[in-house]
Amino acid sequence: MGAGGQETTRDRPRPDAARFREPATLEWQDPVLVICPRCGNRAVAEDAEGGARLRCEACTLRRVWSGQDLHVTVDGRDVVLVRRAGVWVDPVTGRPPARTSLLPTREARFGVPLWLVTECCGGRVLWARNEEHLDYLRAYVTATLRDRSGGLSTKLPTWMKRAGNRDEVIRAIARLRATLQ
Ligand SMILES: [Zn+2]
Repeated sequence: MGAGGQETTRDRPRPDAARFREPATLEWQDPVLVICPRCGNRAVAEDAEGGARLRCEACTLRRVWSGQDLHVTVDGRDVVLVRRAGVWVDPVTGRPPARTSLLPTREARFGVPLWLVTECCGGRVLWARNEEHLDYLRAYVTATLRDRSGGLSTKLPTWMKRAGNRDEVIRAIARLRATLQ
C-alpha cells in the first residue's frame, strides 16, 4: 500500500512513530472484549467454527451466537436486526435497513457491553473492541503525519482528532489498557 502519494523530496525524514497509516485489514474487529453478562468480569466474543462464541474464563460461561440477531444502530436507533430468509431485517420496518453501523458500546452478536469503554473529553465515550484497536487509536492520535488516502480514520469522531484533546485521549487509552493487566 502506498503512503498517500504526498511525499516530495523536500520532506524531511521523520521518525516512523510520527507517521500514521491505515491498517490494511481491520484485524482488531475480532475478538471483542466484553463484560461477562453473568459475573461482570472480562469475557471474549469471537468467531469460531460453528458460530461465534462468548466465553468467560472467570465463571466459565459459554454462549454460542444464534446467528439470528444482530445488535446495531440504524439512523441513530439501537436496533436488533433479525435474520429472515437469509437477510437481515429491521423488525420495526420489516425491511433490510439501508445503512447500519456498529453500536459504539455493545458487541453486535451477543448484545453485551464492551469491556474497553471510558468517558473523556467532557462526557465523550471512548471505546475499543480489543487491544489492537486501542493501539490503532493511540497511533492515530499521537501521529503528526496522517495517511490521507482515507479509510477508517475518516470515521473517527472529530473530538478525537482535535489537537487540544490529544493528551486527554491518550490518558483515556492508557486507562483502558491498564484494565487489561
Ligand atoms: Zn463470567
